[in-house]
Amino acid sequence: MSFSLHGVGVSKGIAIGRAHIIERAELDIVEYSISDEALVSETRRLREAVAQAKLDLRAVRDEIPAKTAVDIAAFIDTHLLMLEDATFTVDTERIIKERLCNAEWALKLQHDALAQAFDDMDDAYLRTRKDDVDNVVSRIQRILLNHAPIKLEIQGHRLEGMIVLADELTPSDTVLMKRNGIAAFATDSGGPTSHMSILARSLGIPGIVGVHGIRKYVRENELLIIDATEGVVVGDADHATLAFYRDKQAERERHLISLHRLRAAPAVTLDGCAVDLQANVDLPEDFVAAHDVGASGVGLYRTEFLYMNRSDSPDEQEHFESYRSLIEVLDGLPVTIRTLDLGADKAFAREPGRHVATNPALGLRAIRLSLREPSLYWPQLRAIVRASALGPVRLLIPMLSTLEEARQVVANVRAVQSDCAKNHLAFDANMPIGGMIEVPAAAICADQFAPYLDFFSIGTNDLIQYTIAIDRVNDAVNYLYDPLNLAVLRLIAGTIDAAAAEKIPVGMCGEMAGDIRYTRLLLGLGLRQFSTHPSLLLELKNIVNMTDVSSVEKSARLALETTNPDELKTLLATLV
Ligand code: PEP
Ligand code: MG
Repeated sequence: MSFSLHGVGVSKGIAIGRAHIIERAELDIVEYSISDEALVSETRRLREAVAQAKLDLRAVRDEIPAKTAVDIAAFIDTHLLMLEDATFTVDTERIIKERLCNAEWALKLQHDALAQAFDDMDDAYLRTRKDDVDNVVSRIQRILLNHAPIKLEIQGHRLEGMIVLADELTPSDTVLMKRNGIAAFATDSGGPTSHMSILARSLGIPGIVGVHGIRKYVRENELLIIDATEGVVVGDADHATLAFYRDKQAERERHLISLHRLRAAPAVTLDGCAVDLQANVDLPEDFVAAHDVGASGVGLYRTEFLYMNRSDSPDEQEHFESYRSLIEVLDGLPVTIRTLDLGADKAFAREPGRHVATNPALGLRAIRLSLREPSLYWPQLRAIVRASALGPVRLLIPMLSTLEEARQVVANVRAVQSDCAKNHLAFDANMPIGGMIEVPAAAICADQFAPYLDFFSIGTNDLIQYTIAIDRVNDAVNYLYDPLNLAVLRLIAGTIDAAAAEKIPVGMCGEMAGDIRYTRLLLGLGLRQFSTHPSLLLELKNIVNMTDVSSVEKSARLALETTNPDELKTLLATLV
């Protein structure tokens, strides 16, 4: 009988293929004591295993295609750095010596101590970095135990078209899966914000994480269906189910191909309203993707990737080079560069001893952090100002909550510009400076901000989080995360109106902008600029081009006054 298991889809798409199960987590670690005489040979065993692990990882790194983003290599470098770190060798050797125990046991003790340190961290993103420790330790354990490293299992084209099931996967595994034609994956653990998930999205591999117990219920080589869009794994499918998913898969492929015809078409509603469809860029891979889907610009360049997986910060030149390559690919289209939005669930290489906040999403995050940490902020600001000489650049300030922050950034930009002028460095003196409206304080007082800014960008991911008071990375309150919450809708409408009154452009770059269930409602509320991941942009254009704005405006505005939840639901249903 067919069964289905549920998890969190990290990328879109359906794959049908045979399962290959990677048993990786349950290494059978034998613990035993060694004699004084065996000390030297046991230490050598450990060193050789570490050396082999480094060789394996370097080989994986060398196989990354040249045109793949540097960030992917950086993930592997993180593991290489750990292997080179004294914590893995000197400390583990010390444990062997002090406890007279075998290398596997010493490594396990070392792993447990490090894992505990990660578990104790308040920062959700940093806690997920424990995966790196697990990965590196199990890699060495496997070699010690003569297990085939995972890379050998997914190496070559042996598993082409198959679906990999694992307890967890690493960023380097994700690169290899893509290279070797693996159709999809599902893992027992992991979260949608882990590096592996982020890479899977960028590389376009259908994948589901958090499918608890998947390897218990599936047999090797069993035919599986992965519906990553819905986060469902279907096993033992009967003919009818298989036919259903094959149709769904074919339909999606046809739909994507048919959407491609829209690439060069203008985004214009049936009644002639021109709509600006821009792309969100999270990774260097997205630069080209944004161009390929015919985005009219980049509405949000999340620059946080420049700071991830490293202990230092990018300098001015590194920022500048990254902006230059995006501007070059976009070839004259506007590029909106957001200053760093580190903190909360986003990576932040904390110095030892830095206080970890109890409520990081309400703490020193985004522009607050920038204004507090000159070494992070000024190199980026200078690079953005210099990049403005290369093409149409807009600077975007994340998480504005007071007008003072906006005024301070504008003053800082002017200071950098006059410094550039003194040093004969080119820049665009008219570079627009805009603000993310993603904190209720800014949305409620958008009319106060509008005269000081050149544009608004509504960040619904955070606006929803802060308005309804739900942590956007906390599973337990996910059910409350509702873009159609009346309070959220009123804040969005108020922001659009405040921008219109001041005649400044307003866009939306949160996930709501790319979700076609809300497109008509947003058009009805007056939104004309959407920014979303390139993979969603053509679907969005399709809906825009089939909408008659004049017919949805009245209902959209009426929704803002409809306090009866049932009536509101009925009304919103007419706008889908
Ligand atoms: C948002 O909050 O909607 C947004 C686009 O920013 P981020 O998701 O990077 O916080
Ligand atoms: Mg945000």
